[in-house]
Amino acid sequence: MKFELRQTFFLESARFLPHLPSSHPCSMMHGHSFKVSLIYWGTKDPLIGWVKDYHEVSENLKSLKTLLDHKVLNQISGLENPTSENLAYYIFESTKKWLPELAQVIVAETELTECRYPHIPAPV
Ligand SMILES: [Zn+2]
Repeated sequence: MKFELRQTFFLESARFLPHLPSSHPCSMMHGHSFKVSLIYWGTKDPLIGWVKDYHEVSENLKSLKTLLDHKVLNQISGLENPTSENLAYYIFESTKKWLPELAQVIVAETELTECRYPHIPAPV
């Protein structure tokens, strides 16, 4: 019996998108309160009754949050072009190393827009 868990955190970060024309507002330095969700799947531990300890995941996220929170994302190696797509990919690749159950990262840069990586096809 598999379960899907979602764990969310926020990042306050600045960025500009260097490949856009200067007429585009996102070419200028600006900030976002990114809402980042980790989706991970697994089976319950038969004794404890949970898939994963949220607290343990939160503790393991501290170094990534320190790296990204209240920073200019463009200055981070691998995020020189910090679109939401590239940020979702970066977080997925960094987190998958210690959270093998990770299935998807969702990065919402506003209430109205979000990016998911990787794409999980809808069941048929
Ligand atoms: Zn932006």
